[in-house]
Amino acid sequence: MDVELVERAAAEKFRRPPRRKVDCPIVDIHAHSMAVDTAAPLYEAARLYGITRLAAIATLETGLELQKAYPETEIIPFLDFTHVSDPGRFAEVNVGIVRRAQAAGARLIKLWFAPRFIARTGLRLDDPRLDPIFAEIDRLGLGVLVHVSDPDVWFERVYTDRALYGTKADQYAQLVARLAAHPRIPFLAAHMGGDPEHLDHLAQLLEQYPNLYLDTSATKWIVRELGKQPDAARAFFQQFKDRILFGTDQVAIPDPEPNRYTSRYWIHTLFWETDTVCPLPIEDPDSDGPPVLRGIDLPADVLPWIYYVNAQRVFGVPPAKT
Ligand SMILES: [Zn+2]
Repeated sequence: MDVELVERAAAEKFRRPPRRKVDCPIVDIHAHSMAVDTAAPLYEAARLYGITRLAAIATLETGLELQKAYPETEIIPFLDFTHVSDPGRFAEVNVGIVRRAQAAGARLIKLWFAPRFIARTGLRLDDPRLDPIFAEIDRLGLGVLVHVSDPDVWFERVYTDRALYGTKADQYAQLVARLAAHPRIPFLAAHMGGDPEHLDHLAQLLEQYPNLYLDTSATKWIVRELGKQPDAARAFFQQFKDRILFGTDQVAIPDPEPNRYTSRYWIHTLFWETDTVCPLPIEDPDSDGPPVLRGIDLPADVLPWIYYVNAQRVFGVPPAKT
């Protein structure tokens, strides 16, 4: 356990990126910026770590403003659920968003179907109210970035009301229904498809649905769960290197704590590219005991696929500013 490594990095505010295994563009396909005036520290950290293209999951309007200020921005707009109880109006508003997004150069639309959202709205990913929106996404050749499910431990500790939330397995029917219904739409399932705990399940989904891709976002969750099984995780990435995209789920917030963004990029670099074992320098409330970073040391021929090739090849995301 390399405690000194973390102490040295913390003393440098995590501003010295670890030496990289590969020299290539890096697309962070999953990051959030709520507003232009709070985004600067995230973009600064991303640039420091060689991120050449940074997603902004935001409203379309905010995404456009961010792109003006930071040309490496990849706009990933989310939908507007204001009119969800009026299907006609809901479809009209969101088909409009999809069209304007495509015209503005967006390549993915964000859809968030966590159990909390479904419990609140009664709307699932396979709800017919979304059909006209998916039809437009298909027609325009866009992809979707979709969040389904949540960590195993949340189903044990948070989503204990089974009648309201269902089981973790229950979360996947909505995803496979859409994957089957729209074979031409590439689906990027966030946070290792919401199931980094069960790589066998992910392998089965990837084999069954050629339009399914996974992103690596959610620092604590992914590092915790893949770090428990580094050899299996490395083998999974080697087998599915053409189906996985790098993302972090960094969120640009007002008044971030010191080193928030640099520490997370530092963690990702060591986790994917080295076999380092050290204390995780951020808190993880879902960890049993002190959280540990245990790197999975991906091979140099796998990393470029994850870092930018799949983003470009599958979704048309440019590897750098345009
Ligand atoms: Zn996210």
